Amino acid sequence: MTETLLILGAGQAGAQAVLSLRQQGFAGRLMLIGGEPFLPYQRPPLSKAFLSGALPRERLLIKPENFYRQADVECILDIPAVSLDTAERRLTLADDRQLPFDQLLLATGGRPRQLQCPGADHPRLHYLRTLGDVERLREHFLPGARLIVIGAGYIGLEVAAVAVKHGLKVQVLEAAPRVLARVTGAEVSDFFARVHAEAGVEIHCDTGVVGIDGGADTARVHTAAGDVMEADVVLAGIGLLPNVELAEAAGVACENGILVDDLARSSVPGILAAGDCSNHPSAIYGRRLRLESVQNAIEQAKTAAATMAGKHRPYTQVPWFWSDQYDLKLQTAGILQGHDRALVRGDPRSRSFAVFYLHENRLLAVDAINRPAEFIAARTLIPAGGRLDPARLTDESVAPQQFA
Ligand SMILES: Cc1cc2nc3c(=O)[nH]c(=O)nc-3n(C[C@H](O)[C@H](O)[C@H](O)COP(=O)(O)OP(=O)(O)OC[C@H]3O[C@@H](n4cnc5c(N)ncnc54)[C@H](O)[C@@H]3O)c2cc1C
Repeated sequence: MTETLLILGAGQAGAQAVLSLRQQGFAGRLMLIGGEPFLPYQRPPLSKAFLSGALPRERLLIKPENFYRQADVECILDIPAVSLDTAERRLTLADDRQLPFDQLLLATGGRPRQLQCPGADHPRLHYLRTLGDVERLREHFLPGARLIVIGAGYIGLEVAAVAVKHGLKVQVLEAAPRVLARVTGAEVSDFFARVHAEAGVEIHCDTGVVGIDGGADTARVHTAAGDVMEADVVLAGIGLLPNVELAEAAGVACENGILVDDLARSSVPGILAAGDCSNHPSAIYGRRLRLESVQNAIEQAKTAAATMAGKHRPYTQVPWFWSDQYDLKLQTAGILQGHDRALVRGDPRSRSFAVFYLHENRLLAVDAINRPAEFIAARTLIPAGGRLDPARLTDESVAPQQFA
């Protein structure tokens, strides 16, 4: 009998899974189910080139429409799945359609964490996760308009960079003492805070938001310190919640994401998970990670597809990520948590430098700003796990390939 594989979530991981399954030679029935009205598209440009208008909408698609036809992938879009029966191996969609399956990949991504304060339903408050979100936000991207960004994470700062270049008056409010505090070290935070200030963005750290009010066209943002700031549009970028409810209700083990092993298998046989919604063991870091990056979605989906096709491809990659702001490309390899030392190579004022995060002289992570060679070297050095000579890392006469 023909095997049926369902891929739930038509995003980055879902698209990669169908591609990899066909590449692996899976010849059975393959269905891709998505809650959004679009074929899988790339999210990174939503806060970068698509927001700025430099990238047209058609270029967002991960694969063109005819790819799915040629690969014989049945796409059901704009209809979310509402329940999962693991015993019967059946997925139910919002239109009551019942989809039986042999194996299911959960690639449901996540949704923006919502502000929890009075006025969090203000019509001028936006979040940014989907194409629909960015199209609504862009309506307010008019020169001279006032934008308040709540949260100085990657998405918030990328939007701030695009907005200020577009002539908006931009303020960023961050509850932590520094920007990007959750994801990078103090050197890189200080650098980005300075770059944004030079570009005309006003950054306020240690500034929690306690409420929003105002009329339909103006939002008044209240801070914990008692200040009130007015804006024509507000964007909150305060983190992501993994979409695990469907899995959890069906009895699939979840803890900060759907728990999977290094083959992307969940606690329920025949049900796998990949991408932002999943939480996997990292052999490199000796603990579980839930990552939110394109590379993680792609690589984990490749692993899941291999497992579904009866092959063995453990997920053992060094995590990596990038962010584009102004003329700067930040590339991060690894996870810096647990470092006991941060070493800066190069001069941040030159807008080209790298920061190495070490634990007992072993490399945990690097942030490379306009420094692709250091980023590439780190991706080999991190899993190798050897002790490094700190003096060589900061010596610009030593090429990154010669660090080990
Ligand atoms: C603005 C923005 C900028 C980013 N920039 C970068 C960057 O520079 N670099 C980087 O590495 N990463 C970046 N990311 C993160 C990256 O895009 C994500 O990590 C990646 O998209 C995760 O892929 P995924 O397939 O796990 O989830 P998604 O791409 O979110 O796809 C999940 C899909 O599942 C659907 N879904 C969920 N539940 C259901 C259901 N019950 N039924 C049907 N469908 C469902 C969702 O609607 C969604 O379409 C960015 C993200 C955003 C939002």
